[in-house]
Amino acid sequence: MKVLVAGGAGYIGSVTTELLLNDGHEVVVFDNLERGHREAVDKRAGFRKGDLRDKDRIFKVMSEIRPDAVMHFAAYALVPESMEKPELYFRNNVYGGINLVESMYKYDVGKIVFSSTCATYGQPEKVPITEDVAQRPTNPYGESKLMFEQTLKWYHELHGMTTVFLRYFNACGATEKFGEDHDPETHIIPIILQVALGQRKQVKIYGDDYNTPDGTCLRDYIHIVDLAQAHILALKGKVSGPFNLGTGNGYSVLEVVETAREVTGHPIPAEIAPRRPGDPAKLVAGAEKARKILKWKPQYDDLDSILQSAWNWHQKHPRGYRK
Ligand code: UDP
Repeated sequence: MKVLVAGGAGYIGSVTTELLLNDGHEVVVFDNLERGHREAVDKRAGFRKGDLRDKDRIFKVMSEIRPDAVMHFAAYALVPESMEKPELYFRNNVYGGINLVESMYKYDVGKIVFSSTCATYGQPEKVPITEDVAQRPTNPYGESKLMFEQTLKWYHELHGMTTVFLRYFNACGATEKFGEDHDPETHIIPIILQVALGQRKQVKIYGDDYNTPDGTCLRDYIHIVDLAQAHILALKGKVSGPFNLGTGNGYSVLEVVETAREVTGHPIPAEIAPRRPGDPAKLVAGAEKARKILKWKPQYDDLDSILQSAWNWHQKHPRGYRK
């Protein structure tokens, strides 16, 4: 298939592009390079620079490329930033997304696989979280992703577009070529690895008074290769709707720090800090639906191997994609 990957220069988009190409698909990446990196775009892919908030630009690119399907990763994804600047999130993630899907409809592109998030559930009423759990986001990031899911749901209902929303839990890990490089970095695993590389003195643990076994937040860490495989399976299928993507294992922040100490051999000093606004206590996936319907089988279900792959990449790229 010919696939337009919006946001293919970002962390998850870059790895999905690599795996799509390995699988024999043709890929054109559309990215504004605001937070992504040109070096993260696989050399085998085509590239068009552009911003989804620029409606004329995405309409022009869609008319030229006329892909069979779109994968959409082009969004802001930082909970803390969204709590300070919600307008960024609604403008980029919702308005930008609407431009994308409207251009698809105009040029008869009938399928989209959308990068959604477990942040759409907010503080879930039950854990593990299955797709039927009520979506009540606790931050503008999650709300913006939910609003775009709902937009897509209506394109499915009204126009018969195949619209898949993959609700990721905590994406992490790397391939040999591509890994995680955000500036500023806010995610726990790369921050811990920056401590191991001597680039930060310590990691702050945001809150140890949550209602969890050790008081720190529980998250479901899922390898990006497994996420990318789920996208490719969704691309091949005809099913619309939501799928949770996680391993079903919840690890606390303290367990992540401890495992990283073992993997890196570095003491990784940590200090307890106040809670971070907008953080739910427990986010763990019930991902049976993806296994059953998409026939998805995650290969990495332990934190050690996920951290090891991230550590390998960070050691080889201590400054990320910067030269
Ligand atoms: N976290 C932390 N220290 C940090 C960054 C994150 O304690 O420097 C915690 C955060 O509060 C959350 C978990 O680690 O409980 C995962 O956060 P991350 O930002 O990696 O992903 P999120 O769950 O927000 O998507």
